[in-house]
Amino acid sequence: MAVLEIMTYPNATLTRRAEEVEKVDGKIRKLISDMVDTMYANEGVGLAAPQVGVSKRVIVVDVRPYDPSTSLICMVNPEVVSEGGEVLHEEGCLSVPECVEGIKRREWIKIRGLDERGREIEVEGEGMLAIVLQHEIDHVNGRVILDRMSRIKRDLHKKRLQKAKMKAG
Ligand SMILES: [Zn+2]
Repeated sequence: MAVLEIMTYPNATLTRRAEEVEKVDGKIRKLISDMVDTMYANEGVGLAAPQVGVSKRVIVVDVRPYDPSTSLICMVNPEVVSEGGEVLHEEGCLSVPECVEGIKRREWIKIRGLDERGREIEVEGEGMLAIVLQHEIDHVNGRVILDRMSRIKRDLHKKRLQKAKMKAG
């Protein structure tokens, strides 16, 4: 078990598009397992590799606290197959501390990628699962919730976070 350090905005890894995984090998499986540990240790419902400083297209999601009918999802190179509807939901992010804002998302989503053994899988979700999947896919595309807010709110939070960073040195 390894709990990794979580990067916070404006860390550079969080704001660039993560690289495609060429081969799902032992190193990627270790990353996935550490990401799951890190997600649970922080009581998160999802985590993307850029949040632990690794610029790879890997996400883990577990929304069972909100929706017991779901399960743990670990996906490499996720891509959206189809999506629809619209929903507004309050979101926070482990990488954007002390920020909770209403974010517009698709109501349902179908995504495709590889599992931890490199086999192709598809996952369909609605409600909380759909929201968190979109949130994590945003991360591997270099987007954080700030990028989905109105300009006024975004500027406000960015200023606050940059100030906090300066204080931390
Ligand atoms: Zn996040």
